[in-house]
Amino acid sequence: MKAIRRFTVRTVLPEALAPLGRLALNLRWSWHPETHDLLASIDPDAWRASGGNPVRLLGAVPAERLAELARNRRFLRELRLVDGDLTDYLRGDRWYQRRLAAGRELPEAVAYFSPEFGIAAGLPQYSGGLGILAGDHLKAASDLGVPLIGVGLLYRHGYFTQSLSRDGWQQEHYPVLDPDELPVEPTPITVALALGEARTLHAKVWRARVGRVPLLLLDSDLEENGPGEREVTDRLYGGGGEHRLRQEMLLGIGGVRAVRAFCALEGLPAPEVFHTNEGHAGFLGLERIREAMAADAEPKKGGEASFAAALQAVRGGTVFTTHTPVPAGIDRFDRQLVRREFGGGSAAPTLPGVPVEEILALGAEDWPDGDPHLFNMAAMGLRLAQRANGVSRLHGEVSRAMFAGLWPGFDPGEAPIASVTNGVHGPTWMDPLVREMGAWEIGAGPVDAALVHGARAEDETWDGVRRIPDADVWRLRRTLRALLVEEARERLRASWRARGAGSAELGWIERVLDPDVLTLGFARRVPSYKRLTLMLRDRERLTRMLLHPERPVQIVVAGKAHPADDGGKRLVQELVRFADDPAVRHRIVFLPDYGMGLARRMVSGCDVWLNNPLRPLEACGTSGMKAALNGCLNLSVRDGWWDEWYDPAFGWAVPSADGAAADGDPEARDAAEAEALYRIVEEQVAPRFYDRGGPEGLPTGWIAMVRETLALLGPKVLAGRMVREYVERLYAPAARAHRALAADGGAGAAGLAAFLERARTAWPAVRVDHVEAVGGPLRLGAALNLRVRVALGRLAPSEVLVELVSGRVDEDDRIVEPVRAALHAEEAGGDGGRPLYTGRLTLDRTGPFGYTVRVLARHPLLASPAEAGLVAVPSADAVPVDPTMLR
Ligand SMILES: *Cc1c(COP(=O)(O)O)cnc(C)c1O
Repeated sequence: MKAIRRFTVRTVLPEALAPLGRLALNLRWSWHPETHDLLASIDPDAWRASGGNPVRLLGAVPAERLAELARNRRFLRELRLVDGDLTDYLRGDRWYQRRLAAGRELPEAVAYFSPEFGIAAGLPQYSGGLGILAGDHLKAASDLGVPLIGVGLLYRHGYFTQSLSRDGWQQEHYPVLDPDELPVEPTPITVALALGEARTLHAKVWRARVGRVPLLLLDSDLEENGPGEREVTDRLYGGGGEHRLRQEMLLGIGGVRAVRAFCALEGLPAPEVFHTNEGHAGFLGLERIREAMAADAEPKKGGEASFAAALQAVRGGTVFTTHTPVPAGIDRFDRQLVRREFGGGSAAPTLPGVPVEEILALGAEDWPDGDPHLFNMAAMGLRLAQRANGVSRLHGEVSRAMFAGLWPGFDPGEAPIASVTNGVHGPTWMDPLVREMGAWEIGAGPVDAALVHGARAEDETWDGVRRIPDADVWRLRRTLRALLVEEARERLRASWRARGAGSAELGWIERVLDPDVLTLGFARRVPSYKRLTLMLRDRERLTRMLLHPERPVQIVVAGKAHPADDGGKRLVQELVRFADDPAVRHRIVFLPDYGMGLARRMVSGCDVWLNNPLRPLEACGTSGMKAALNGCLNLSVRDGWWDEWYDPAFGWAVPSADGAAADGDPEARDAAEAEALYRIVEEQVAPRFYDRGGPEGLPTGWIAMVRETLALLGPKVLAGRMVREYVERLYAPAARAHRALAADGGAGAAGLAAFLERARTAWPAVRVDHVEAVGGPLRLGAALNLRVRVALGRLAPSEVLVELVSGRVDEDDRIVEPVRAALHAEEAGGDGGRPLYTGRLTLDRTGPFGYTVRVLARHPLLASPAEAGLVAVPSADAVPVDPTMLR
């Protein structure tokens, strides 16, 4: 029988166990092994059954067991210890507070928005890397004391769980998640937003505790909502355009309203910086524009509320992170749909006072090959944020080229998109066994303990480093491998049962995988660019590798295809069918339902982490970083983070055949890269792993790579490093910009908006009229004196920057690696005048060299040269041929 209504009866803990309630509701248990172990010890079977969710665990433990624990002195002592530890963790000063004390100007608070958060397996609100990264960002911010507030949605069905049909086709299940059984708490906050066609979307706000960081989750499953609105937060990345758009309106607009209410309720300072993790939450900028316009239009000021000034005020305090160079990864909506949902023309628009035409302009693809019918969330993200970044050095470069159309007239390299390479949260992803043995002491390299043990001072180093013997390192690696083998067998058995096999058929699973065989791991979502099945290109060769008599290889594979992606599901099926073959099934397994729990086991238990995306489509990739934290070596195409930090001491690079060799032919490219992959495994990876010529029969060369990876790569890939970079390079400047723009009741923003308006109107008259270079001979060390006449129309010399740009030129005379230097105004221009600028160009390099002169708009509140989108360069006749230059 089906229940007509469901609810969860919360348990009442005996007085002595009261701290358990608090421990269960702070997700810090998920990265604090002592708390984790204590919770699991309450009832190990119920803990497993709860899926790693202490709230559900406490609801399932019989009252007798609780009464017994309330009398157990050892348990109570442990409980007091971890409870006290949590109190200390939540209170003490950390890196951020020390920075403030040292006089750094930092934001009072930062709001961090993301469509998904992967914090723990027991709170399944993520689909893949973007969500896990967001979770790691919150955890590292908590460890560092950064005053961050996370904002997301609470999906009633989360993301799907994956199983397989008998013939290997992905099956999706959407479990019902009852918030009363999740590690979240209700708040009294509700938000409402008007949608098109006179509908209203209501949502209530839940709060999760991620260490010191509050995470607000909006939930539309409320009786006040109509059936359509009620389902807005039903699942992550489900449904079509309209559904997605409403989710994103709730996240961005409802999210800002939730943050405002939460800060008021808790007496917290208002965020000065808003960070949007990928474009999905970008509407947060529009809501803040509405706020600014409403404040400005108050009768006491009497003035006309200006969209342009509000836009500038908001941009300064906004940071946008783009996460993908894959067009399908960017949300684009039909413009008519956006117009309708924002209530264009209706009496009750979503954002009263904000012209819908302005909203549409922010998402317009108004570059040459853009689609005029679409609203692009990444374009809006970039226009609404004064600071933006990609997530690895290579991805920053790719993003600048990809979005260059937003800044016409500038080189792609000047697009104001920086990069902060992703990181992973050490205490979450480093196996406790690696940590216990002393993580980087294994490498005896420079140790930054705080980055692993978030609780410690960042500048404290680890004294008395000792070098752990090779034999111990090797034993640790074997233990981790054996744990993976054990878990793989368990999961495989469960999978085969679900596929309809009886126990009698499954005896072979006891012999699946071998704790002494070289183990490769491959696990990630299954979009086509990640090429799950590249390893299957030459099945015979792969089979020979798996069954090699002396140097066998075994492979553990996992990954979910998006429910709407049949192509991805076919790849999963292809892999599953190969792995089902009795000839190889003991050496290659596909484990269903990839999630954080399985990821942790795989990244620690594998010897080599495989990654073979189509370069440069992997923006960063983080699973290989998690592997590195456990001494698992990387074997990857040089894409994302691996392009930046690859070193032969840490693993192997699969050469990318994206150049002439494959000649744009995807088949040829796959073939070449698969061939390289096989060859590296056969000729380098396996021989090194099985070379037992060292003392005590150990693979000394391999162990040395494990040490290097732990000691030298480990510190770079940490989320603590990433969050500190965000604070220093993006949040701090954004907070300063926000303050400057907001000063004097927004006079800064109004002044900048007025300047930009004037500069845009005046710009058609701005020209570089004449350039003269005197000097020579053109020899290293010589200098040219430049005299430049510019026309500034109605602008004053103080409002422009006239600069000399020079550097090596390529065969098309384009300046590569440009160096910029300001020229000096010699005479004032005045209205209609043509001021003279001068400067000196030193020829400090040999070979092909070139220069140009250009005029840019200048204002102290602009953050980068391309930002205003205004540039004037010399026309062809402005540069007379100078005979001295020809010699
Ligand atoms: C780390 C992680 C990812 C992201 O891995 P990539 O290498 O970036 O593809 C996806 N899913 C889970 C469960 C993870 O733990």
